[in-house]
Amino acid sequence: MKHQPYEFWLFERKTLSSDEARDLEDHLTTCDNCRALANAWTNIEDQILSASLVAPLPGFTQRWRSRLADHRRRTHQRQMSAVLFTTALGLVGLAFLFGTELLPLFQPAIPTLMVWGSKVANLVANLHLFRMIMGILLDASIDSIPLVYRVSLPLSLAGLATLWVVSINRFRYRRIRKE
Ligand SMILES: [Zn+2]
Repeated sequence: MKHQPYEFWLFERKTLSSDEARDLEDHLTTCDNCRALANAWTNIEDQILSASLVAPLPGFTQRWRSRLADHRRRTHQRQMSAVLFTTALGLVGLAFLFGTELLPLFQPAIPTLMVWGSKVANLVANLHLFRMIMGILLDASIDSIPLVYRVSLPLSLAGLATLWVVSINRFRYRRIRKE
């Protein structure tokens, strides 16, 4: 059996004239060889088309967005924890540096310190709220703050807080001595 031009036409079906198309269909009904080739080619065409049209699963954009938001939230939580940890570390370090000087100053002020202690306990209880507020405040800006400020700013704040505590107590101590 003569398979040309039908084998060639199989790959050009869309450009065939109606006579050629009818001849091809007639040949395909009688020729197993060309019918097998036609089926194989149709399969390949289908696979190429379906491969290029594979769409992402429904909700892909939504999932991607929520994963991104989740990642950002975790990053901010890590940064907030780092800021709080650095501040606490700074305070502890300053307490070690100035602890021996502060101790005699604090002795007359123990009742005041007790009051402060309860205030600190209150602060700790409100720490979660503080974290939330700081988180909201820093949320918009932390990405644009260089790392060096993220470390040095809490340390400076801790230093200022300690200086404030020291000066308040010096003042109080002097006043107590005058009395
Ligand atoms: Zn044939």
